[in-house]
Amino acid sequence: MPLSASILIDGPSELVFDYAIPENLNVLPGCRVRIPLRNRPATGTVLRVAEKPQGDFDLRFLTDLVDPEPLVTGPLLKLAEWISSYYGTPLEQVIRSIIPSSIRGEKNSAKTRRAAILNKKPSQEELDALAKRAKRQHQIISLLSVSPDPIPISDLGGPSASASLKALAEKGWIKLTQLEVRRDPDAHETFAPTQPLTLNPEQAEIHQSLLKSLHSEKPTPILLHGITGSGKTEVYLQATKAALDLGKNILILVPEISLAPQTVQRFKARFHEQVDQIAVLHSNLSQGERFDEWHRIRAGKARIIIGARSAIFAPAKNLGLIIVDEEHEPAYKQENPPKYHARDLAVVRCHLEKCSVLLGSATPSLETFQNTQLGKYQLGILSERADGASLPLTRVVDMRIEAKKHKGRDAIISDILRTSIEKRLEANEQVIVFLNRRGFARSLQCPPCGHVIECNHCAIPLTYHRAEERLICHVCGHQAVVPRICPNCKDPAIRQQGYGTEKAEIILRKVFPSAKIARLDTDTTRRKNTLRDTLRDFRAKKINILLGTQMIAKGLDFPNVTLVGVLNADLSLYAPDFRAGERTFQLLTQVAGRAGRGDLAGEVIIQTSTPHSPSIQFARHHDFHGFVAQELDMRKQFGYPPFTHLALLLARSSHERRAEFTLQTLHRKLAENLPEGVILGDPIPSPLTKSHSQFRFQLLLRGPNPRALSQHLNKTLKNTPTPEDVIVTADLDAYDLG
Ligand code: ADP
Ligand code: ZN
Repeated sequence: MPLSASILIDGPSELVFDYAIPENLNVLPGCRVRIPLRNRPATGTVLRVAEKPQGDFDLRFLTDLVDPEPLVTGPLLKLAEWISSYYGTPLEQVIRSIIPSSIRGEKNSAKTRRAAILNKKPSQEELDALAKRAKRQHQIISLLSVSPDPIPISDLGGPSASASLKALAEKGWIKLTQLEVRRDPDAHETFAPTQPLTLNPEQAEIHQSLLKSLHSEKPTPILLHGITGSGKTEVYLQATKAALDLGKNILILVPEISLAPQTVQRFKARFHEQVDQIAVLHSNLSQGERFDEWHRIRAGKARIIIGARSAIFAPAKNLGLIIVDEEHEPAYKQENPPKYHARDLAVVRCHLEKCSVLLGSATPSLETFQNTQLGKYQLGILSERADGASLPLTRVVDMRIEAKKHKGRDAIISDILRTSIEKRLEANEQVIVFLNRRGFARSLQCPPCGHVIECNHCAIPLTYHRAEERLICHVCGHQAVVPRICPNCKDPAIRQQGYGTEKAEIILRKVFPSAKIARLDTDTTRRKNTLRDTLRDFRAKKINILLGTQMIAKGLDFPNVTLVGVLNADLSLYAPDFRAGERTFQLLTQVAGRAGRGDLAGEVIIQTSTPHSPSIQFARHHDFHGFVAQELDMRKQFGYPPFTHLALLLARSSHERRAEFTLQTLHRKLAENLPEGVILGDPIPSPLTKSHSQFRFQLLLRGPNPRALSQHLNKTLKNTPTPEDVIVTADLDAYDLG
C-alpha cells in the first residue's frame, strides 16, 4: 500500500505539506526527512503517516531520512496515540507538542568546538626527533598521548598552534575533530553533598513497596499521602537511588519548576557525584540549552530528569520510575490542545513502559485518592512530621466581627493576627502572610450607584494596581486609566473595594514599621531571579515577614517560620467550580504546612468571613479523611468526578448570538443518541461570560466512560458545521470550568 506523510516543514512559517513515501524507506511519525520544496531542498518532521489517497498522482516524493531513528521513542509514539484518541486531538498536533520546536528546527544543533585526538602514537625515535626539531609539535603530541578524549584546540595553543596541528595531522599521528560542549544552565552552582537518612518505619514501608514495584512486571501506581514535612522528599530521593542502581532512568515532575528550586537542590546535593546525569527542564532554558538537555536525555547521558508538566514527554529510554510531586496541583493540566493531564499521562506511561509511578501529596486529589479505594493504586501513608515537630495549632478568626469593630472599614489584619505577629517578631522568628490575590484593590466601585469598573474585553472587574496607578485586567492584561469620578453617575465617591497583596504590603509596613517585609507575587517576580533571591534572603533571616500569593503556599521549607497568617481565606471558596472546596482545603493545608517545620512550634491564623465552611474547618483540624468523606459524598450525590468523567464544551465568538446559537445547535445534536449513562448539561453563559472580547457559552457532559464521552463529542463536532467566527473547543477531564 503506497503511503504518504504529513510533514511539518522547518522554518518560521510552520507549513505542513503531504509527500509520498518511497517504498524503500521506513518512515514513522517523529522522523526527520529531506524533501523537495518548490525548487530547493528542505527538511522537516513527519507528523503523520497515512495511506496515500488513491489516484493522487500529484504528490511529490520525499527524498530521504535525515536520521533513521525518529525523534520520539517507540513508547512515546504510543503515548502520543493514546493522547490523540483519549483527548480527541489530531495526532499531528500531539506530535508537534511532544517534540519542542527547539529540537525540530534545522537551525538548532549541538554546540561544538574544534578539537584534536591522538590517531597513531609516533615511535620513540620520531618523538625524539620532534623534541629536537619541533618543540611545539612534541608538546602537543605528548599531551594527546595521555588523553583518551579529544582535547579542544584552545587548550593546545589556539590559533597559534594551527601550523603544528596541521603538520601532525598530515603525518597521520593526530586527527582533527569536533567536540560537543554542553550549554549547562546551572554550570556555576555548587552543592553541599548530603547522605541518605535512616528511614523511619512508615517511610521504610513505602520504600519496600517501591522496591517491589521496581522489580514487578506490572507495577501498580503508588500514592504517597504524607502530611507536610513528613519526609516525602526523602522517600523520593531513596526511590531514585534504588532505580538508578537497577540501571534505570528516573523522571521527576514538579508542578512548576521555578517554585521548586529547593527540590532540585536536594536532588543535586544527594546525587552530587552524578550531577552531570541530572537534567532540569524548565521554561527559562534558552533554545540551545533545551536542545542540549533533550539530546542528553535521549542519549541516556542524563538519567535523572526533573521538570514541569511537559517533561512527561522527555525522550528517556529505559524508564524505571516516574515521581509526580504535589500530584493534586492543577498546574499539571495543560490548557491548550492537547489538553492532557501530566499526572494521568505518568500513569499511562507507566503502563506502556512497565515502570513504577509514585504520586506524592499532602492533600491528594479526590481522583487519585478514590483510585486507592478502588484498589487501582496502592496507598502509602506518612502520618507524622519526620523531624518530630508537631502540626501547627490553627485558629480561625471571624472577620465579620472584626469589620464591626472597625466600623465597616476593610479590616485587613485582625487584632489577633497583629498581636501574634508582634510576638513572633520580638522572639526573632519569621512570619509568612498568605493572600491569594495580587494587586492593590479588587475593584473600583461607586457607592452611590454601585457601578463597578469592568474590563472592556472580559466580563470581570478591573483590579487597581497602585504602583502603576492603573487598572489592569487579570484575564487579558488590558490596562485602563483610573477614573476620578464614576463613569456611570459622575459621583466622585468611587472607591476601592477588596484588597490584594499590594495593599496588604502597605498595611503591613504601617503596622510593623521596623520589620523587614518582602512581597512575592507575579507582579514582583517579573524580573528574573527575584523569586530565588527573595527566598534566599528569607532563609538567611534577612526578611521578617514574607507576604505572597499561592506562589509561597507550597514546598518551601523554612525552619524559623513559626506563624502563618491567611488573609481572606474565602477567595478561592467563591469560585463557581465544584472543586472550589477541594482547592480551598488544599491551599489552606499547604500554607499551614509552612509553619513550625523546625524545632519551634508553629501557629496558623486563618481570617475568613465564613468560619463554618467545611473546607476551612477540616483544614483547621488537619483532617484530610474527614474532608474527603464529606466531599466524596457530595460528589457522588451530584455525579461529579471522581464518580464521573467530565467534558467541557466551549463556544466563543465576538458575536454573542452566534456563539449562543452554535452551542444550542451542538446541544441538540449531542442529545441525539446520547451514550448510556451520559448526562448532558444545558448550554449556559460561562462564569467568565466574556474574555478577550469574545462571548463565551459552555455546557458540561458527564459520564462514567471517558472514551465514550470523547468519541460522542468529537463525532458530533465533526458532523456539525459551525460558523467560521465561532470557535468551539472541547476539554476532557477539564479543571478550569470557564
Ligand atoms: P515533605 O517533602 O513531606 O514536605 P521533607 O522531605 O521536606 O518533607 O522532610 C521534612 C524534614 O524532615 C526535612 O528537614 C528532612 O530532612 C527531615 N527528614 C525527612 N526524613 C527524615 C528521617 N527519616 N529522619 C530524620 N529526618 C528526616
Ligand atoms: Zn480583560
